[in-house]
Amino acid sequence: MDLGLTGRVAIVAAASKGLGKAVAQGLSREGVRVAICARGKTQLEAAAGQMTSEVFTRQVDVTQEDQVRSFVQATHARFGRVDICITNAGGPPAMPFSDASVADWRAAIDLNFMSTLYFSREVLPLMKERAWGRLITITSVAVKQPIAGLVLSNAVRSGVAGLVKSLSNEYAPFNVLVNDVCPGYTATERLKSLNVHPEAQIPLGRVADPEEFANVVVFLASERASYITGTSILVDGGLTRATT
Ligand code: NAP
Repeated sequence: MDLGLTGRVAIVAAASKGLGKAVAQGLSREGVRVAICARGKTQLEAAAGQMTSEVFTRQVDVTQEDQVRSFVQATHARFGRVDICITNAGGPPAMPFSDASVADWRAAIDLNFMSTLYFSREVLPLMKERAWGRLITITSVAVKQPIAGLVLSNAVRSGVAGLVKSLSNEYAPFNVLVNDVCPGYTATERLKSLNVHPEAQIPLGRVADPEEFANVVVFLASERASYITGTSILVDGGLTRATT
């Protein structure tokens, strides 16, 4: 299948490692020029070295509105367009509701909700102007089925899914498609640091490779996904038990 992505420009947030990096690499392999960001410089430059198309890097903390705005503007100045934007960040810490302070809630909202909002505010007008766009959020299976001990993630990511659905309706008339992709257990550094061994819970019997997640995002970003908008798509090996 020709994905029709050659020549497009994509922003991939939080892309020096893990899922973001795999998505940026997948897009890059399809001939997309990519702008990637993260806070740490060394890993970001190492990730840039693994892209096969033109790449722009910027150290950005996605919880900072001014940094996100400046990154999007610099990407637009560099490439002349922004066709695709993948929002992403780290994940909030695991804790039960009884341990979470108001500061913990504010930090989780900043990390996963406000960061998505900041990118959306910057890129949607650019996409609307060109009557073509793909805004894709990376959340978690938690939007379909809460994960025990991850109350911050469970609550805040559902807010992102609600935002995605609302934006998809508002921007569909302009051929700007907005979707959410929900990873299950995927073999990134974050998962390794959590030291969990969930294989027995997963119908496919194994955790995902980041590339398996990225393939879905790349498809949604492509010309071939022209009739998909407003969805939250699981890439979880069957982990979620509900009919979705
Ligand atoms: P990861 O391997 O730890 O990578 C996280 C990336 O985000 C790094 O590039 C990191 O670079 C960057 N980052 C973190 N905070 C940032 C910030 N404030 N501003 C800019 N960049 C930031 O994590 P991952 O496994 O790819 O996870 C990505 C997202 O998917 C997370 O929200 C995670 O909770 C979610 N998720 C992952 C899984 C899984 O199994 N892997 C499952 C469900 C959901 P710097 O630290 O240098 O900034």
